[in-house]
Amino acid sequence: MRTVTEVSPVTERATDATGRSDADYHRPETVEAACRRLRDADGRARVVAGGQTLMPLVRQGLVDTDAFVDVSAIPALSGVAREDGRATVGATTTYAELAAHELSDRVAALGEACAVVADRQVRSLGTVGGAVAHGDPTFDLLAPLRALDAEVRLAAPDGRRRVPLDSFLVGHLRTDRREDELVTGVTVERPEPGRSGSAYERHAAVESGRATAGVAARVALADGAFETVRVACSAVADTPARAHAVEDKSVGEAATADVVAAASERVSEDIDPIDDEAGSATYKRRLAATLTERSLLAAVRRAGGSP
Ligand SMILES: Cc1cc2nc3c(=O)[nH]c(=O)nc-3n(C[C@H](O)[C@H](O)[C@H](O)COP(=O)(O)OP(=O)(O)OC[C@H]3O[C@@H](n4cnc5c(N)ncnc54)[C@H](O)[C@@H]3O)c2cc1C
Repeated sequence: MRTVTEVSPVTERATDATGRSDADYHRPETVEAACRRLRDADGRARVVAGGQTLMPLVRQGLVDTDAFVDVSAIPALSGVAREDGRATVGATTTYAELAAHELSDRVAALGEACAVVADRQVRSLGTVGGAVAHGDPTFDLLAPLRALDAEVRLAAPDGRRRVPLDSFLVGHLRTDRREDELVTGVTVERPEPGRSGSAYERHAAVESGRATAGVAARVALADGAFETVRVACSAVADTPARAHAVEDKSVGEAATADVVAAASERVSEDIDPIDDEAGSATYKRRLAATLTERSLLAAVRRAGGSP
């Protein structure tokens, strides 16, 4: 069985016995001011957005910090902006806001992933930037973003950069983000309606509500055949895994149920699930194949196909 990287080890406990933190708290109103706070803290500050993941870790003494930089009051980080056939989702956009946005009508996989996250409270506070920056492969939104060839936008005191999500997520809970960088948003293509479609299918363990496995599919069809296929999976590898074997098997083929079924079986080649309380690795491989088939079929129908 693989070992996984644990969350940051405690070097010096900054919470008292009741879990209260004595760290400083900053609430800047610009990206530049937030980046300066991060740089000046020299790695000893934590960005906080919705706090849904970070604050429980702090209260449990699993994350130690000298200061919080709360980014929720930065107007430039909120909402969805359109430019040249692409859309940028600001980092502090919540799951609830993204699900209600027109982008989620056009890219169904995004809306479907947001809709299955926990409950209304978590969806109203948890943010897209928090999900991306934490890099947890069980988070539902990351697989659809990977299937959409998303780019992560980052800002630092010395400038801005964009990184493909594929290379931003470097391992379990590990990303390419530097400590003085802020995730400012993610950019995805806004596919033209008509011949493209997407879907997100997941199965969750009853006890935790978290994905045991999830699969996002995005397709574009031309003359009834697969022109573009992207498949990415939640919770079955160290990062949300791209299912290249499924993609290779289906591109250029007729978008039929038989082709989808055969291609979906190949998802096993690109995933590496572990045995845990949600199920055995063998079970998760079977589940991933079933979810791949379902999400591909739904995406094909939304693209105007009749599998
Ligand atoms: C009860 C419960 C159930 C849940 N169930 C699900 C589920 O079913 N599916 C699912 O996908 N998720 C689930 N989650 C997790 C949820 O998706 C995350 O907690 C949420 O997306 C994190 O966003 P946040 O804004 O709260 O991040 P925070 O908790 O504020 O931050 C998370 C991490 O990202 C960093 N960070 C945040 N924003 C930025 C930024 N802009 N730039 C740089 N770093 C940043 C923080 O420093 C921290 O390390 C659940 C959470 C809870 C509490």
